[in-house]
Amino acid sequence: MSCIEHKTTPSPTNGEAGRDHNPFDVMEPRAPLKTPVDRKNGKHVKANDIPPQGVYLPNNNILAPHMKSPEYVQLSTAAAITLGIMSGRMYGCECTRCLNLLLTYPEGCRANCAYCGLARHREADRDYADRNFIRVDWPAVPMADIIDIVARDPDKSPFHRMCISMITHPRSEDDTFTVLEQWTDRIDPTAIPVSILSNPTTMSRDDVQRTKDLGADIFTVALDAATPELFDRTRGKGVQSPHKWSKYWDIMLEARDIFGPQKFGAHIIVGMGETESEVLHLVQELVDLGGHSHMFCFFPEQGSLMDHLPATPRDQWRRVQLARYLIDYRGVRVGQMRFDDQGRVTAYGIAEAELAVIIDEGIAFRTSGCPGKFQDDISACDRPYGDSPPSDIASYPFQPKKKDLKRIRKQLDIPVTLE
Ligand code: SF4
Repeated sequence: MSCIEHKTTPSPTNGEAGRDHNPFDVMEPRAPLKTPVDRKNGKHVKANDIPPQGVYLPNNNILAPHMKSPEYVQLSTAAAITLGIMSGRMYGCECTRCLNLLLTYPEGCRANCAYCGLARHREADRDYADRNFIRVDWPAVPMADIIDIVARDPDKSPFHRMCISMITHPRSEDDTFTVLEQWTDRIDPTAIPVSILSNPTTMSRDDVQRTKDLGADIFTVALDAATPELFDRTRGKGVQSPHKWSKYWDIMLEARDIFGPQKFGAHIIVGMGETESEVLHLVQELVDLGGHSHMFCFFPEQGSLMDHLPATPRDQWRRVQLARYLIDYRGVRVGQMRFDDQGRVTAYGIAEAELAVIIDEGIAFRTSGCPGKFQDDISACDRPYGDSPPSDIASYPFQPKKKDLKRIRKQLDIPVTLE
């Protein structure tokens, strides 16, 4: 079988300091600083008693301690534009197909993940409602207003899916149940299916079951780090954060049992210090369990403990994107692929002509996530520019065009043959 194979070590195209991948030693988060007592646990916001009034746009600077879930949720800027709550345009897309919701509290998330804009250490200088997350602002909106808009005509809604992102907070299970119940009371989950992006640290099997009983369609776990060592460094003891790799796996396996094949999965961030071989073996493990991987390209989120580190070089990202797509949707196994001594992909394990067709279809390079209504391998969750600026797109929130595919092939170091 003829394979596309890099004849030499992959050449650097985009990385800082000539690197074509982000190695473990470089990707060390900085240590969190101590939070002043008067800013801890949202104290600064809770010292006020201003009632929330409708939509809160980040940096409105209204200190409204009662603006919290389940009455309020935050939603992505893309979802707010699609819903008509905010004005604005997104490069290359008319709308987003996923209504991404985030639980909200004045205390914010109590975890401290190093790559995340919502992390606890940020309370020192930024109120929770004003924090950036995956590169964008998240306005806070009454849940009832969102449901009113979508319930007018769910079948014609631009949204193909709704997703509730839990955060680490003592109320996050109960409020997730309430938000989900409010939604499914008014909106048929077969018209707009619901995904849960869970917080395993505080969850039990019964909690997972309850989300299923209340109408959730897919349950995902934000593993984020691809190895136990990286997990501990970025989300556990390394940054005074409560998460444990083993607990995330326990809850994912409960979800596998309760939700069944193709209805569970894990989020993984690529480029935090794992090798390409490590992340692709994890992708294979998830597929063998019957689940899916949803990939993010590491981007140094402003204000996070990793904001001084390099974004994932595009060549590393493209290799992993392509290989992951082959494993997840085209039946190629990681054992058929080849890697160099630094774990980089050197051969994708399928015939050159077949690989060329898959590259030119472009789907492998679109944002990955829970499916929408177009086809199984096209994600509803398109997260426009959540992991890159539009000037150097990592995950394409739209179907890549010819000029995009030419660029992708260059980044892959695979000869450009497109006319
Ligand atoms: S638990 Fe989630 S929201 Fe909280 S800091 Fe970690 S990644 Fe961010």
